Amino acid sequence: MARIKDSDIALVRDRSRVDEVIGQVVTLKSAGGGSLKGLCPFHDERSPSFHVTPSKGLWHCFGCQEGGDVFAFVQQHDHLGFSEAVEKLASQYGIELHYEQGGSSSTDKLRGLRTRLAEAHKAAAAYYVEQLQGPEASVGREFLTSRQFTKEDAEHFGVGYSLQGWDGLTKHLRSKGFTDDELVKGGLAVQGSRGPYDRFRGRLMWPIRDLSGDVVGFGARKLHDDDQGPKYLNTPETPLYHKSQVLYGIDLARKEISKSQQAVIVEGYTDVMAAHLSGVPTAVATCGTAFGVDHIKVLRRLLLDQESSRGEVIFTFDGDAAGRKAALKAYDEDQRFVSQTYVAIESEGRDPCDLRMEEGPEAVRELIASRVPLFEFVIRTTLDGFDLDSAEGRVGALRAVAPIIGGIRDKALRPEYARLVAGWLGLDVATVNTEIREHGFKNTRQPSRGSRPAEAANTRIENNAGSSGEAMAVAPATQWVLPDQREPMYQVEREALKCAIQFPHHVGSWYGSVESLSYVSETYRAIHESIVAAGGAGSITDGSEWVEAVLVQAPDDGLRQHIRALTVEPLQTSHDDDNGIRDYATSVVARLLEMDATRRIAVTKGKLQRTNPIEAKAEYDQLFTELVDMEEYRRGLRQRVAGE
Ligand SMILES: [Zn+2]
Repeated sequence: MARIKDSDIALVRDRSRVDEVIGQVVTLKSAGGGSLKGLCPFHDERSPSFHVTPSKGLWHCFGCQEGGDVFAFVQQHDHLGFSEAVEKLASQYGIELHYEQGGSSSTDKLRGLRTRLAEAHKAAAAYYVEQLQGPEASVGREFLTSRQFTKEDAEHFGVGYSLQGWDGLTKHLRSKGFTDDELVKGGLAVQGSRGPYDRFRGRLMWPIRDLSGDVVGFGARKLHDDDQGPKYLNTPETPLYHKSQVLYGIDLARKEISKSQQAVIVEGYTDVMAAHLSGVPTAVATCGTAFGVDHIKVLRRLLLDQESSRGEVIFTFDGDAAGRKAALKAYDEDQRFVSQTYVAIESEGRDPCDLRMEEGPEAVRELIASRVPLFEFVIRTTLDGFDLDSAEGRVGALRAVAPIIGGIRDKALRPEYARLVAGWLGLDVATVNTEIREHGFKNTRQPSRGSRPAEAANTRIENNAGSSGEAMAVAPATQWVLPDQREPMYQVEREALKCAIQFPHHVGSWYGSVESLSYVSETYRAIHESIVAAGGAGSITDGSEWVEAVLVQAPDDGLRQHIRALTVEPLQTSHDDDNGIRDYATSVVARLLEMDATRRIAVTKGKLQRTNPIEAKAEYDQLFTELVDMEEYRRGLRQRVAGE
């Protein structure tokens, strides 16, 4: 290889700021004294020991002892030789290089392969963009229009079109001085018996860029009926393109991900476009492969953990089995990451692209906002394999989820999930905890296996998509979290509180039977306790005086804010006369009591199941009587709910 002139090397070193170059890959924050730090890209770490000193142009990791100047960084990070690293930075900073044995950068064929391939891809991307305006590409333009992408949108994302003929791109790049060997090695052309021909033909083309903005490959969608190939085709593994690491959209999303400490994983190229255009600029997609550990590593370095706030990675799946499997797989592979991982599922299975088309951009933003912690998602998905209406089903479900909870490495999270699962299964928390203690610590590496398949009939997830439950307590800063109101159970809890606060005289006698544990949501339970502490519903009839009395009992302003919201939120009934409201309010409270009774009945049935009717006859009979009484009580409540 020809040698780059020393003066040029010095110029590149001078112009490429080490913090800027490293900052493309690693989010850096101040470490004091003009120094910066971040998570080391060369070893796995949780707290930053990777330091950069811009004034000296140097970096060093105190964890793995790697270090050097800006060239050393690029060499090591991109697996390049020294000259290639210089060339990469030169092209990034627009510096023309000169070589000792003559020739300038534009004609020199002896330069590093990686640099040559990057240049070939850049030229190819420009060529494809140009072809999108031609007559043959009308089908491609129609595809974009049908998904509500404008010409400007396509330009912003660099979308192009590859001609149907055999060698349009190959000829074009040859004329630019690229060799057949380079085109084949770069994955742009395929070696045929009569010479190389274009890999992508008659397809819509998305350029895939790396963090520094270099085009490293393409994603290509089929457009023509006579195309025998798969719907999507991607660049194969090349010295430039490593599918386990590339994320489509990362070049555009990088800064936002680092700034907002959030990354959204969507499934396809059009979803990335739709998300960005809908105001979710942190969206990226894997390219023809499942999200894996290498992708996690790329994102983690951008989502530098801060002590106060942890970065979030939100997966959107269309709720199909494959998407669910991907989430479970990510969970299996890197648990340290998992408490920062969320899942957002669209209730009707629409992806962000469809959602934007049918409901508009705000629906895409709402979908992302409706995220659920991954653990909650995994647990629910596992529960879906069981018939929770039967005692056997509940016990089986508990057996299956216990190892998942036991496998949560963050110990502070375990009680939260134990409580949630208890609520979902209608069991008491102690039962769940016992199961976790006894069976929760086996098989923790593969928690979702060994039970029922996680992708079984999935009504629960589908119906309650995006439920945030209370597992949001993952973030300690948000103390009084509201549960997801799409969950019918929480709707009833909220309505009951509204009735007790707004119409205490209507619910008074019924509300007296409500206990703290009738509320599964901790926030709602705390509000209920404020109501009880204020004397209970019906103790004071006057509206504002009553609300004040409840507010005074609330432990803090956070909860008071939720109570105020409940005082003004309209009831979910069309009745506005006294009798109508009274009937509605009593039926809501009866429903709350009924749900509570159902949970208790389940617990008693469970106990009964485990009690030997001969050996422990007295206990068995006692439980049996209790069960009969509770069922009788519940029948009465059901009649009340039905308004009889
Ligand atoms: Zn290191």
